[in-house]
Amino acid sequence: MKRILLSFVLLFSFLQTFSQDTYIHCGKLLDTEKGIVKEKQTIAVKGNKIMMVYDGYITPRGKGIVTIDLKDKVVMPGLIDMHVHIEKEHSPKTRLEKYILNEADRAFNSVGFAKTTLLNGFTTVRDLGGTGVNISLRNAINAGKLPGPRIFTAGKSIGTTGGHADPTNGSSRKLVGNPGPKEGVVNSVEDAKKAVRQRYKNGADCIKITATGGVLSVAKSGDNPQFTIEEVKAICEMAKDYGMHVAAHAHGDEGMQRAILGGVKTIEHGTYMSDETMELMKKHNAYLVPTITAGKEVEEKAKVKGFYPEIVVPKALAVGPQIQGTFARAYKKGVGIAFGTDAGVFEHGINGKEFRYMVEAGMPAIEAIQSATITNAKILEMENEIGKIEKGFFADIIAVNEDPTEKISTMENVVFVMKNGEVYKKN
Ligand SMILES: [Zn+2]
Repeated sequence: MKRILLSFVLLFSFLQTFSQDTYIHCGKLLDTEKGIVKEKQTIAVKGNKIMMVYDGYITPRGKGIVTIDLKDKVVMPGLIDMHVHIEKEHSPKTRLEKYILNEADRAFNSVGFAKTTLLNGFTTVRDLGGTGVNISLRNAINAGKLPGPRIFTAGKSIGTTGGHADPTNGSSRKLVGNPGPKEGVVNSVEDAKKAVRQRYKNGADCIKITATGGVLSVAKSGDNPQFTIEEVKAICEMAKDYGMHVAAHAHGDEGMQRAILGGVKTIEHGTYMSDETMELMKKHNAYLVPTITAGKEVEEKAKVKGFYPEIVVPKALAVGPQIQGTFARAYKKGVGIAFGTDAGVFEHGINGKEFRYMVEAGMPAIEAIQSATITNAKILEMENEIGKIEKGFFADIIAVNEDPTEKISTMENVVFVMKNGEVYKKN
């Protein structure tokens, strides 16, 4: 009898260790669903989930209960960035790195970028293109081996020969081969289907295409259409079969229209978007991912001699300053806006700047935060798991010092980060 009793006591204390409850006292709590700030709230967290949200400060007594005091902070759900490149950070060395870095080097670099992103409040990101290291990074983070955001990755982007996602542009033909669908370079409907299936096999969560020319590729045009509408359609239909949505990088209007008509879910950048295309976006329920920060950053860096290859500079100076204005027009017209920055084109961790730029362009702060939480959660089909602080949701919780609806730049200084119930940052 004594031994049975002892086993029960041991089992009980064992269970207690693994069911530690955390109570977070929030001076202010941002309700992303209703778009309001509530005062004096308590979030109860058990394991990796939110157990309950209470009015007032609740402090239950008991062994294994932890209380976190954020009474002088503003608390909100973890942020979601729909456009990052987690395994790289653009610099004057980028072109050379293609030849001197091995996959393992990229992998080690990505560890730091992932951590920085998480510590700045982004608990979920969509990675829109790298070498495939992004897939292994996602797996390592999910397995709890590394700190980092929850990653949805496109693996390697799909482009066309000489297009924005052809990794061999501007390189010596002696050194590089001629990539095909396996490497994400397609030139027909059949190639397009093969490339999607290959991405699925490699472990991608979504598909990224480069529907038009781009700024940082070593090629002349930054905005010409680079896919036929049939190729886009084939990619979107194939992606749907595998439960993936498609994101399209696009600066030029013609390529953008083909992408929307072909069935993509998000348009990245959208620089030269016409009024007609904005109407098309609304009709097809496509979202604009603005990446204003990328526009501002490439414009600045293009002024630094030698930062970019010569062919890139005029494109950066033309495209960069346009993006914020296009976002302002699209927002006013009622186009769906999904928060995204293109971090990796600039240094990781400053993703929060995007909020300031969105507000500057006329979007109310609360709507900018909603786009980085509930809107993005919906696109990722995780609207019942992330983007809100509600019973049953993942405990992805962050805090800032001031009320962002009064001072948006506070989003650039995240002071508390919890992801999946685990605290990663507490100032
Ligand atoms: Zn990008």
